[in-house]
Amino acid sequence: MTLTRRHALLAGATLPLVPAFAPLAHAAADKLGAATPPFRRYNLGSFEVTPLLAGTRVQEDPKAIFAGNVPQEEFEAAAHAAFLPTDRAQGFFTPTLVNTGSELILFDTGLSQEGILAALEAAGHSADEVDLVVITHMHGDHIGGLMEGETPTFANARYLTGQVENDHWSAQQNEGYEGKIRPLLETMSFVAGGDEAAPGITAVEAFGHTPGHMAWRLESDGQALMLTADAANHYVFSLGHPDWEVRFDMDKAAAATRRALFGQIAEERIPFIGYHMPFPAVGYVETSGDGFRFVPESYQLMLNG
Ligand SMILES: [Zn+2]
Repeated sequence: MTLTRRHALLAGATLPLVPAFAPLAHAAADKLGAATPPFRRYNLGSFEVTPLLAGTRVQEDPKAIFAGNVPQEEFEAAAHAAFLPTDRAQGFFTPTLVNTGSELILFDTGLSQEGILAALEAAGHSADEVDLVVITHMHGDHIGGLMEGETPTFANARYLTGQVENDHWSAQQNEGYEGKIRPLLETMSFVAGGDEAAPGITAVEAFGHTPGHMAWRLESDGQALMLTADAANHYVFSLGHPDWEVRFDMDKAAAATRRALFGQIAEERIPFIGYHMPFPAVGYVETSGDGFRFVPESYQLMLNG
C-alpha cells in the first residue's frame, strides 16, 4: 500500500486519508497442518502416468530396516552425508496409475482401501474406472487396498500378477493372500518376465525382495519409464548401498537384482518410479561409488507436455 500511495501522490492523485494504525479487519489464519498432495500426473508418450500417495508413515530405527548387516558408524555416516536422521525415516507407499488411453491400469494398491481410494479420487478417478490391477508382489503394503472385508475395492477390474509370486504365496497359508488375493483368483491372470499387461507395458523379472517380485517397464511413443516396485526400499540406504540388507527382502538375492535392475536404468538414463521412494517417487539413478545416486525428477517429465 505504501508504494501505491506514494506513487499515486507523486502522480498528483488525491486519496482518502488512511490512519497510520488502522485496525486490520481479519484475524490470524488457522494453521492447517503439514500437507503432501497425494498425486502427480505426467505424460509418457501417449500414456498418462500418475503416482498416487496411498499412505505415508514414520518408521522407527531405520538402521534395523535398511542396514541390517552394516556397522552402526557406517550407517550413521551415510545418513549424515544425505542430511537424514538416524532414529527415524519417513515411509511412503506409492501405487501408480497408468492410463493408456484405452485402459486404466493400477500397479499395487497400498495398505488399505481407504488410502488408495483417497489418492485415486484426489487424482480425479474412481475405483470403478480401474480396468486392470497389476500386483508387483504380495506383501501387505501392496495388496492391502484390494479388498475391504469381503468386498473388492475395484468392482470392474480384472487382475494380473507374476506366476512365480502367486505360486509362492498360494502355498503358504498366508493371511494376506487368503484375504486379499484368493477371493480374486477367478479374474486373475499370471505372467512371466517379458509378458505384457497391455501394449507397451512389459513385466521384468526382479526376483529377490519376494520370490516372484516383478518390475514393469512402460514404453510409449519412444519414451520409457520403469516401475521398480520394491527392488530398492530406500533412496539413499538401498540405492547407495545395494548390498545393505533390507529387513523385507525375503531372499538375499535381492541385492544382485537391485544392482542389475538399477544398473540398466542408469545405463538407459530413463526415469523410474520406486514404490517406497520419497513421494512423488519419481527419479533417475546414476552409478556412484559402490552403488547408485538417486536424482529426483524435477521438471524433466513436465516437459513431456
Ligand atoms: Zn513394499
